[in-house]
Amino acid sequence: MSDTRPIEAAAPPVVVARDLRQTYKVRRGLLRPPAELQAVRGVTFELCRGKTLAIVGESGCGKSTLARMVSLIEPPSAGQLTLLGLDSTSGDAASRATLRRAVQLVFQNPYGSLNPRKKIGAILEAPLAINTNLTATERAASAREMLALVGLRPEHYDRYPHMFSGGQRQRIAIARALMLKPALVVADEPVSALDVSIQAQVLNLLADLQRELGLAYLFISHDLGVVRHIAHDVLVMYLGSAVEQGKKRVIFAQPLHPYTRALLGSTPAIAGAAGTLPRVILKGELPSPLNPPTGCVFSTRCPHAIERCRVEPPALRTIADRDVACHLAEQFIEPASGSPQHLQP
Ligand code: SF4
Repeated sequence: MSDTRPIEAAAPPVVVARDLRQTYKVRRGLLRPPAELQAVRGVTFELCRGKTLAIVGESGCGKSTLARMVSLIEPPSAGQLTLLGLDSTSGDAASRATLRRAVQLVFQNPYGSLNPRKKIGAILEAPLAINTNLTATERAASAREMLALVGLRPEHYDRYPHMFSGGQRQRIAIARALMLKPALVVADEPVSALDVSIQAQVLNLLADLQRELGLAYLFISHDLGVVRHIAHDVLVMYLGSAVEQGKKRVIFAQPLHPYTRALLGSTPAIAGAAGTLPRVILKGELPSPLNPPTGCVFSTRCPHAIERCRVEPPALRTIADRDVACHLAEQFIEPASGSPQHLQP
C-alpha cells in the first residue's frame, strides 16, 4: 500500500478536534466525594477526506474514549469537535441526525457485531430502513451493490453470519458501515481479532474503499505493524494525552518521544530508521488515570526522566516536522547520515 494516494490536496477537514477532553466522575463510596478521571486530556487534530489518522497507544491510554467522542456516542466534557463543518455539540435535531449518518463504526469483533439471527441482506438494509425513504427493492439493490464493493458474492445476500469466515464477517461489518455513505469511518482495532494472513486482505480492502469513496478513517490500534500499512498520520496517546503526532513517515522514520521510541523499538516488523531503535522494555504499569503523575505523564516509566520531568508538564511543541511533548525531544534527533545515538539526558 502506498502513502501517496490520489486525493485532492485541498479537501476540507472531515473532523476538527480542538482541545478535546473527557472527564468521568468515579464514585468512591458513600462518604467520599467522587473522584475525577481524566480519560482524554486535551487532544487536538484534523482529519481530511481520503486520509487515515491512526490513534496509537496501550490499553487504557484514552484512544477508545476519543473514538467514542468522535463517533458521537458520548459528548466531550470540554473542547470543540467539528464534523463536516458542523459543531457536534450544538445544532438542531436534523443536523445532529446528519452527523450521525456521516460517522459510522467498525468494531474489533466481527463475530459479535453481526446479529446471528439475521441474513446478511437484512443486516445491510437495516440502516437504510431506519434512515432513508428507499423502497424495499431499492434497499435490496443497494445491499447487493455493497456486497460486490467489499468483495463478497451476490449469493451471500441470503446467508447468515455464522456461514462466513472471520475475514468475510469483517467485510460484512465494513459493508454495513458504508450503507449510509458516511464521510468518516471510526475503526476500533478492526483487524486485531483476525489471523495475520487475513489482516492484510482487510487492510487492503479498507485502502481500496478509501481511494474509491474518499473516506476518512480514524483508526484505533495498538499494533504499529498494522498502523504502518494503513495510516497517513499518527497520534500517539499516553494516559489520555497526545505525546507525539504528525505524519506517519516522519514519526516512523525518527520518533522523538521516548514512549513512541519504546513502542516502535518493540515492534520487530517496523522497517526504516525506527527499526534500528534500541529495544526498551517499559518498566511498570500504566499509572491509574485517577492518580496521574505530576509533571510529564510518562515520567514514572521513562528511562530518560530527569528532575524537571517530575514537576513540569512538557508542552506539545513542533520539532522536526511533528508535535511532541517531551522536554528532551531535541536530544533524540539523529544526524541524517549517522547511526542512531544513545543519548542520555
Ligand atoms: Fe521522558 Fe522527561 Fe521526556 Fe517525559 S519529558 S518523555 S519523562 S524525558
